[in-house]
Amino acid sequence: MTQPPFPLPTDITAKTTLVGLIGWPISHSVSPLMHNAAFAELRMNWRYVPLPVRPERVGEAVAGVRALGLRGVNVTVPHKQAVMPHLDRWTPAAAAIGAVNTILVGEEGELLGDNTDAAGFVTDLRANGVDPAGKRVLVVGAGGSARAVVYGLAEAGCGSLVLLNRTVAKAESLLAAMRQLFPDVPMTARAFPDCVAASAADAELLVNCTSLGMSPNLEGLPWDEDVEFAPGQTVYDLVYNPAVTRLLQLASVDGARVIGGLGMLIHQGAIAFERWTGEEAPVDVMRRAVNVVFDR
Ligand code: NDP
Repeated sequence: MTQPPFPLPTDITAKTTLVGLIGWPISHSVSPLMHNAAFAELRMNWRYVPLPVRPERVGEAVAGVRALGLRGVNVTVPHKQAVMPHLDRWTPAAAAIGAVNTILVGEEGELLGDNTDAAGFVTDLRANGVDPAGKRVLVVGAGGSARAVVYGLAEAGCGSLVLLNRTVAKAESLLAAMRQLFPDVPMTARAFPDCVAASAADAELLVNCTSLGMSPNLEGLPWDEDVEFAPGQTVYDLVYNPAVTRLLQLASVDGARVIGGLGMLIHQGAIAFERWTGEEAPVDVMRRAVNVVFDR
């Protein structure tokens, strides 16, 4: 037989199962590397592929996921809300958060929208030895990630929650929806940054859900520089690039416990992996793959 003038790929076969990521743009995403490392570790004939989808093509893309027999996809910015009307069902978490980051395709092609950000965040908190149950929490930010974090914290039984945001009306509307679901958790919306000082001392767990401090704007601070942290407090920053943000630096100097956002990214991926495959995700392998990307 004549040899082709290029090496043949030998690891994708007619039985390979596909999952992937839809978003726009997605070339920066670490998810393909993280999931493919997990498939390789478990010797699974699955592949995770990047699927860049322009905003005007979301409906067609979701129909394509069903038609092409993918087992599922992750969904990232800016499509997390836009995919929802194209799905058959949503999990309670996705419906409450109002966003889907994981689509599961059933045997008959039915599409279920899930959100693993909330569970990923809470799983990472617990992996770091922090149980949100009963805690007084202060969350800064009221965008998409804050909706998942507030849902996750309330579902995990946090004691009370204060939500600070530059646009207070957005924080009010987020909490109005969450109060319906969790009437027993006292939740208050306040203005950022004016109310940082008045809200800080009482909080046991502080969570940044804004993009302030994210590379390349390293000076951004979702806090008030004059307000000190206490050694008993835990400060969690969803921002994972850089690994140690200005917020975490200040908190660390004051003796607070600090956690960066990379663990949440890994755990939301691990939970999606488990929903698609039914296999336990090799979280350490996924973490190593992500650390390679971030040179850590
Ligand atoms: P959104 O755009 O939905 O929300 C941004 C939030 O940041 C809003 O509350 C906004 O306030 C606030 N904000 C932005 N700029 C400023 C500013 N200059 N001053 C005060 N507030 C500001 O973003 P997401 O919620 O999707 O993401 C937020 C961050 O979380 C990003 O850095 C993202 O990378 C990270 N993230 C990390 C994840 C992980 O797995 N670790 C998962 C998801 C997100 P306002 O409402 O007033 O505009």
